[in-house]
Amino acid sequence: MLVVMRHGATADQVQRVVAIIEEMGYEARPMPGKQRTSVGLVGNDGRVDGSRIASLPGVQEILHVTKPYKQVSREWKGEATVVPFGDGLRLGAQEVVVMAGPCSVENEHQILAAARAVHEAGATVLRAGAYKPRTSPYSFQGLGEPGLRLLDRARRETGLAIVTEAIDAESLDAVAEVADIVQIGARNMQNFSLLRKAGRLGKPVLLKRGLSATIQELLLSAEYILAEGNPHVILCERGVRSYDSATRNMFDLSAIPLVHQLSHLPIIADPSHATGQRDMVIPMARAAVAAGADGLLVEVHANPDHALSDGAQSLFPRQFATLMEETRSIARAIGREIAEPAVARR
Ligand code: PEP
Ligand code: MN
Repeated sequence: MLVVMRHGATADQVQRVVAIIEEMGYEARPMPGKQRTSVGLVGNDGRVDGSRIASLPGVQEILHVTKPYKQVSREWKGEATVVPFGDGLRLGAQEVVVMAGPCSVENEHQILAAARAVHEAGATVLRAGAYKPRTSPYSFQGLGEPGLRLLDRARRETGLAIVTEAIDAESLDAVAEVADIVQIGARNMQNFSLLRKAGRLGKPVLLKRGLSATIQELLLSAEYILAEGNPHVILCERGVRSYDSATRNMFDLSAIPLVHQLSHLPIIADPSHATGQRDMVIPMARAAVAAGADGLLVEVHANPDHALSDGAQSLFPRQFATLMEETRSIARAIGREIAEPAVARR
């Protein structure tokens, strides 16, 4: 339930609503907005009788949120959420944020080469995994902590913000120390204890759609993070498993406008894991920007044939430069821009 206060309602009137909600045994979440303040009621399982609140001074109306997810829904918050991160960057506003880099951090030379290449092409965020959730226990599992230190080094050298994955609650704090955005991967989308812990982080979370998760399941997973008090969640469409093995996954382009309809959270697209094939990444990146994606997550490797993971879908640096150029034109055509690196922004 959402209590919408009148424009100009006083702080005392808002406080009164909060007190009554708490007296009723629920939690109250006051949310000051540009036009008016709303107070969300959480902790209920089912419809709450709002008649006691409706007649309080300063209350304009009571809205019952009809979706199973509450705080992530558009009903709860009409304005799009803009997630601040790194050094003055934002995701979810007019600018489309491109995050790019190799699947895994492999060694110093490799990550620095990739960081320089994506920075030069105009990306603002370096993405690479230090901890890798691999399907086979015999595949490269990532460098772990030394990988995080290399990411930190790449940030210092290029000024790129960092997105990197936490695969469990144990590594989450170490990841959050280095990451500007903490990624929770597809395989962990329903790891509810990890989501809860991520909800208590002071860092934005990039939550990827599960291997065959519905949009409702994705939004409910985001709800876990918001319910713990972290409003800065970025969703990611990365394809879902389908009957057809011709591509690695089935890229669900319609998830982008659908999530924008159902939720105020931003959504980015990952055409690399969605297709699994290098030659399909640029066309799907163009399509995602045209569909309204708030960002892209793209795998790029200076030497993809020698990549320790996901080489087949990793772009060569010159292909990534083409992707940047082409998506810039598409962003402009729909009244957006591709976010520029810090130096260029000044
Ligand atoms: C990744 O981003 O490198 C990754 C492992 O992706 P996903 O969780 O979407 O499979
Ligand atoms: Mn990968």
